[in-house]
Amino acid sequence: MTQSNPQLLANIRVVLARTSHPGNIGAAARAMKTMGLSQLVLVEPAVFPNSQADAMASGAIDVLADARVCSTLAEALADTTLALGVSARRRDIVAEILMPQQAAVRLLTEAQAAPVALVFGNETSGLSNEELSLCQGLVTIAANPQYSSLNLAAAVQVLSYEVRRVWLDQPGWPDRELDAASGAEIERFYGHLETALADLDFLHPGSPGKLMLKLRRLFSRTRLSREEVNILRGILSAAQQAKKAGTRPSNS
Ligand code: SAH
Repeated sequence: MTQSNPQLLANIRVVLARTSHPGNIGAAARAMKTMGLSQLVLVEPAVFPNSQADAMASGAIDVLADARVCSTLAEALADTTLALGVSARRRDIVAEILMPQQAAVRLLTEAQAAPVALVFGNETSGLSNEELSLCQGLVTIAANPQYSSLNLAAAVQVLSYEVRRVWLDQPGWPDRELDAASGAEIERFYGHLETALADLDFLHPGSPGKLMLKLRRLFSRTRLSREEVNILRGILSAAQQAKKAGTRPSNS
């Protein structure tokens, strides 16, 4: 029997966004380690490091010690080529909703080539629109509709378990379908898009309103390849050039 490759699990990171309670961070670390996951990234944790986190981590203190702290979610996802938001509701943002098992297959497939992420939200407010707009899919744990909100670390446990189960079950992985762009490449594209739309007078730089968020939502419904990002940026550059040439005072 082929052994499941541990490198796949090392490429799957758990990102906790704006966690309020340090105990949950420790409990999440423990949940991860029991399932063989080790890459914990904290985005703007309210309190970290902390003794309550250490106590709840128990024997998973090494996962906490190795945790990376980032100031933005974009930074946490910069080198990932797939990020899935984990959320009980918020069906309004990303069209496709995955079951944990489907999410695990996607993550493990992509993890053959690059780091991937599961993104969990704040205990009270969940994931914001901005945070979800950085994800290419949404995972929901089928829970009691009358009471569907799991504790943060319990949600981490469910997803980590599904990842492990799929990892153990399926030693042969399908080929990666796409040379996906990384989070940082996609962020550079959004930056270029915003500048180009301002240059074309389509967007007022002072008040972008919800346009950029809506455009992010459009693109996050699909996964962009590296090549597609380059094509889109080429189109933007051509439009910017044409605008510049068109507005140049004529020298007649
Ligand atoms: N009141 C918040 C609950 C946040 S619970 C809300 O409704 O969004 C903290 C985190 O645990 C969530 O952001 C999500 O990442 C995860 N979570 C809790 N219950 C979940 C469920 N049923 N499905 C998927 N994720 C869940």
